[in-house]
Amino acid sequence: MLCYLPRLRIVQLQTINAIPVYLLICVVFFPLFSVEVAAEIDRTRSNEIVQLMEQEQFEGFQDFLIRLRSFSTIDDETTQVINNYLQDQAIPEDLKNTLYRLLGIYTRLAYGDKALGTLAQLVAIPTFAVAGLPQHENPNFHRFADVLGAIAIEFGLDFRNVDNRIYEINLRGTGDELVGIHAHGDVVPVNPDLWVLEDGTKLDPFKVTRIGNRLYGRGTEDDKNGIVASMYAMKVIKEENLALLRNIRLLVDTTEETSSLAIPYYFERNPTPDYNIALDGSYPVVIAEKGFGTVMAHFPVRKGSGEGAEIISVSGGLATNQIPAASVARVRSARPEELVSVLNEAGTLYTAGHGANFQIFASSDSNIVMLTVQGVSAHSSEPASGVNPVSRMLDFIHNLHGQAVFQSNHITDAAHYASENWGLDYLGNTLGIAYQNDFMGPLTAALTYIALDDEKMQLAVNLRLPVGRAPDELLAEISSRLESWSQTSKITATFKFSADEPMYRNPEGAWVNALLDIAAENLDIPRQFGSSAGATSIHDLPNGVQFGLAMPDEKYSGHNANEFKTIDQFMIDLQIVTEMFARIGGMPRL
Ligand SMILES: [Zn+2]
Repeated sequence: MLCYLPRLRIVQLQTINAIPVYLLICVVFFPLFSVEVAAEIDRTRSNEIVQLMEQEQFEGFQDFLIRLRSFSTIDDETTQVINNYLQDQAIPEDLKNTLYRLLGIYTRLAYGDKALGTLAQLVAIPTFAVAGLPQHENPNFHRFADVLGAIAIEFGLDFRNVDNRIYEINLRGTGDELVGIHAHGDVVPVNPDLWVLEDGTKLDPFKVTRIGNRLYGRGTEDDKNGIVASMYAMKVIKEENLALLRNIRLLVDTTEETSSLAIPYYFERNPTPDYNIALDGSYPVVIAEKGFGTVMAHFPVRKGSGEGAEIISVSGGLATNQIPAASVARVRSARPEELVSVLNEAGTLYTAGHGANFQIFASSDSNIVMLTVQGVSAHSSEPASGVNPVSRMLDFIHNLHGQAVFQSNHITDAAHYASENWGLDYLGNTLGIAYQNDFMGPLTAALTYIALDDEKMQLAVNLRLPVGRAPDELLAEISSRLESWSQTSKITATFKFSADEPMYRNPEGAWVNALLDIAAENLDIPRQFGSSAGATSIHDLPNGVQFGLAMPDEKYSGHNANEFKTIDQFMIDLQIVTEMFARIGGMPRL
């Protein structure tokens, strides 16, 4: 018997070894397998509906559907879905995805502007780590929790602040299954001096500034947008009484950018969700995350000796996971003007000889010379997307130290270390530790964080480990190579090492295919699993994947100076997250 194929799609399940498995399901077996059917409304259609309805006034989802149905351009199937929904008649399983998509479109139109306001409200609270103050004792986080709690209650959602570690927001359904949605409220620190646009516009990192299609502000991309999209999705599903067959729990992390201790703290005291979806990475669905590692070098402060000027400070990233836009060294000099011209001349040669995609310039203020390396900031997991000023500053200092421009001290020691062991390449070639994985890409090693106090200078290298080498084995090799360097160079330094296992999953099941569908169809991007260099809160959780909210082929602005989210992307995220919650909540089986 010829099979009747009601818009059945060939479901392609890509396995990690990239051997596609094609499943052609015959109607006969329908009750045995859940078949996911593409919603009729693709990206083009969805944009058409948005344009149609943008000018319309409507109150609630039902009213939205009634008005939408009045347009002659609406196809029969969508009309059938609308009729069934409005007449409270059952919607055929294969048409439900169309309803969820309409709910997503409704949410962005009904609440998009309000959601932008909520994002600004959350960005305005500077939730970055303060040295020496535990995050759960930081008053800014207490304020953040209060604001989040008030919004949740206004939205009719259950809110629970778990010891100022994790904020829990619940959308209850029937059944026991629990789907965890992960986003984080903490942000990486800012250096306000670096928040200047190319046209000279100075930005306040904690005030959302709308310029054209961009929303500038710390946390607009990483990751307060994820919290906002989730809360409005929950609000609408609650308001419209959409049937949920399982519980959806938003877990807002407070230490995702720092210790990552809040999640384990929470799960020691609370149930672990069966499925864990992080809205803190890339679309469509990321199933692999590199392991996060750090090589922290300590150089004891020592008084300058020998000829030349003395470097008294040098700046780097404010966090291990941040490549800054610029690095600045301050140098005490008896002949500042002379040194400025030496540095500017040497700087011109150096930049010309190293790709010319960054700048070096020096100026003086009485006997202090400021040496600046202006690069391009980046998330430390993607060093290729920036031009690291820290590695260039240290390599430049090392080169000049060799020409007696600078006295020897702890800063030239660190420059020697950085130049000889890490260099400008961020793939570990200089130290001889490079390796890569076809799916996850290469090991990366980026010079980032610098801290200086009266006793020591700290310099961090942020490692990102793909599968292919055991972290302990890699760290042992790095340690022995740096030990022998320290002996050969006779430079006193101590090192601390840490590295997590990479995450590499092979998720199966209707739920992960639904995530792929929703992202691929709404964003018009390839329907395939991705891998990420960055790690998120779901790294060690069961059935953990990333689901956006950043576009895979665009530079990630998180951790950068001038971090931004485009308004278009924010709106489509609101639509997608609402559809995802509704679909994952309504599917008969995950
Ligand atoms: Zn993040």
